Amino acid sequence: MSAPTPAQDDELVFVDEAPAAPSGATDPGAWRVLIVDDDADVHSTTTFALGSLVVHGRRLAFLHAYSAAEARALLERETDVAVVLLDVVMEEADAGLHLVRHIRETLDRHDLRIILRTGQPGYAPEMDAIRGYDINDYRTKSELTRTKLYTAVASAIRAYEQIHALEASRRGLAEVVRANAELMALRSIGGMANGILREAARLAGQPAASGLMCSCLGGAQAAGWQVLAAGGDCAGLAPGGMLPARGDGPAAAIRATLDGRRHVFADTYLTLYFGGKAHCDFAAWIALERPLDPLRRGLLELFASNIAVGLDNVALLTDLQRAAFYDPLTGLPNRTRLVELIDEGLAAVAIDAADKAGDVLCLIDLDHFAEINDALGHQFGDALLLAVARRLRALLHPRLQLARIGSDIFCVLGEARQVDPEAIRALFAAPFSIEGQDVQVSSTLGLVRLLEHDGSGADALKDADIALKRAKSRQRGGHFYFSRGMGVEIRERVRLMHALRSGFARGQLFLAYQPQVELAAHRPFGAEALLRWRTEDGRLVPPDRFIPIAEYSGLIIEIGEWVLRQACAELMRLRAAGHLDFTMSVNVSQVQFRHPGFLDMLRAALLDTGAPPERIELEITESMAMEEPDLLIERLAAIKRTGVSIAIDDFGTGFSSLSYLQRLQVDRLKIDRAFVTEITGSARGSSIAEMVIELGRNLGLSIIAEGVEDERQAQILQALGCPLAQGFLFSRPLAPEQLLEWLGADALTRAA
Ligand code: C2E
Ligand code: MG
Ligand code: MG
Repeated sequence: MSAPTPAQDDELVFVDEAPAAPSGATDPGAWRVLIVDDDADVHSTTTFALGSLVVHGRRLAFLHAYSAAEARALLERETDVAVVLLDVVMEEADAGLHLVRHIRETLDRHDLRIILRTGQPGYAPEMDAIRGYDINDYRTKSELTRTKLYTAVASAIRAYEQIHALEASRRGLAEVVRANAELMALRSIGGMANGILREAARLAGQPAASGLMCSCLGGAQAAGWQVLAAGGDCAGLAPGGMLPARGDGPAAAIRATLDGRRHVFADTYLTLYFGGKAHCDFAAWIALERPLDPLRRGLLELFASNIAVGLDNVALLTDLQRAAFYDPLTGLPNRTRLVELIDEGLAAVAIDAADKAGDVLCLIDLDHFAEINDALGHQFGDALLLAVARRLRALLHPRLQLARIGSDIFCVLGEARQVDPEAIRALFAAPFSIEGQDVQVSSTLGLVRLLEHDGSGADALKDADIALKRAKSRQRGGHFYFSRGMGVEIRERVRLMHALRSGFARGQLFLAYQPQVELAAHRPFGAEALLRWRTEDGRLVPPDRFIPIAEYSGLIIEIGEWVLRQACAELMRLRAAGHLDFTMSVNVSQVQFRHPGFLDMLRAALLDTGAPPERIELEITESMAMEEPDLLIERLAAIKRTGVSIAIDDFGTGFSSLSYLQRLQVDRLKIDRAFVTEITGSARGSSIAEMVIELGRNLGLSIIAEGVEDERQAQILQALGCPLAQGFLFSRPLAPEQLLEWLGADALTRAA
């Protein structure tokens, strides 16, 4: 309001000193100072006094307002004013104080520093107002000598700068927190890498920068790093590709970062290091337009150390996901993933029936892969599987989905017209070159048309498996389409398996005994124990039906032991009844026979029941005698040492060679029922029975005919030299008490 008050020392300096040219209000590097005063002289003396002031290397630029109203308007526009030198009394006695309130409350500007000046000491605001409105200084104009003004403005500018730095870090920290929260929500490593580049660039103050993010498995010494994300000038590097470690530019910077395990802040780029605990390390490179100030560096360091943990977790998760859904050898989807893919396809059918419905699922089984693997080693086997995967991928239609769902089972899924079984098998016509050797493998296929399938992906895969098994058992190197009938049959078998298991536990199994006789005297000398199963509803399930299921499920091991003990116990009862030279024949299936515990089981059963081994005969089938001759010979010898004897059941149906038979320590051949029936029922007559009898005689083996149904068969067999027989002619299989009855009440007398 008024000119500076009476002269003081300082004022001389005002006049004497030549002021430095005041920098323009537009100088971007200058501190902006707003002078608000209705006295034009104050404006000029102030700019004159402060014109040479330099704070932290920056000069001052002045803005001028001559009323509180003008100052308001100006402050609305200008956001980076550092200091306001404000006159208290202008339009009104407290216009300056009103402006202060406006600045703090309405404009919400708290960084701006305010120095109040007044010409009249009586207009001094109260201390409360000074504190409440965060006013830096309050002086009467007469008090404000040049030096004091200088000091007051310089310290106000310093305060302004500090407030700004704090505000910038607060904002930066909020940014870091937000960026972290955003990135932590991501679950894929690729998505997270892209997010890290974006957020790091933003924290560096330059959105949309060129950047590159890599993961490193083999440490800094690795030949290269996997590119996870790339943008800007680096966009040429495809995610998933490799960044060679020897390169310069970003590659060199990343090498230095991984090597030194630290961030690098250079003038033209920055790199961030993310150390992984459980997994590999990561590094990000970002191009910079200008060097970073210390605040931004600090924020980026904070950001990197926070994000490293999350990155590590996501990497681990990604690995787990890969392991759960992909085959590590070929990188193809595994069974779990394939089921998902089929389900996705089936879901698509539900939405759009025209599409996908025609899809076919085809399993490709490599014939005799296990043998190749065993003979040439697993490394060779792996190489072969890789070669097969590569060939399938290269030669099959690119839209077909490939998978590997078992050690030697691949899968193709896709449109029916592209899944041609003949064409797929033809892919195996040329040999595979493995470790310099040509390997020829053929394949067997099992297929399912998804259109004909009404179940889940897992069911479709099971059906394809069924078709494959059928193809393998029918014709190796062929193919088979699944049909509904097959599924029904299999499901019935599974049902039966469960029923058998619980039936056995509930005592539904029992033995029937079919007598064996000497043809000459019709005198019984033994019996064959035959397994029976009566289900809850009283139905008898034929052994030909449930025994293969017991074998297939392994249940035969338990059941077989039970049969043997049961038969031994029955033998002991018969002996107690006086039938001392009676022999018990027990059927033993192949699965039992091969079981490592079989011999111990046999010994224990004999010991526990007290059955004399020389009165027990085990029946093994001829087909079993054909497989793994050396193992069989050894096994038979060991069994013989326990004292039991051995018969070959269903003899004549297999292809035993004479020389082989000689090496087997067996005691008896059982002529198969088919050849006995032939004697009277076919043109071939008794020729095969005759041969078997002759063979037995030559080898010194006992001969028994089974399935003898009529007197003529018995007579012819006897005439041919077969002394023993079993069949409906003599007796059907009998319950224990029936057997005793059948054997006759005179047994005791006979034995005596
Ligand atoms: P297998 O050992 O050749 O048993 C002889 C089969 O011929 C029995 O059938 C018997 O009832 C039947 N049979 C006996 N005489 C005649 C006849 O004059 N005419 C006709 N048409 N059939 C006759 P089953 O009891 O149905 O047994 C079938 C097969 O089941 C047995 O053939 C055997 O391989 C297997 N089996 C039975 N019990 C057991 C067992 O406890 N363990 C094992 N592993 N297999 C068993
Ligand atoms: Mg038998
Ligand atoms: Mg038989």
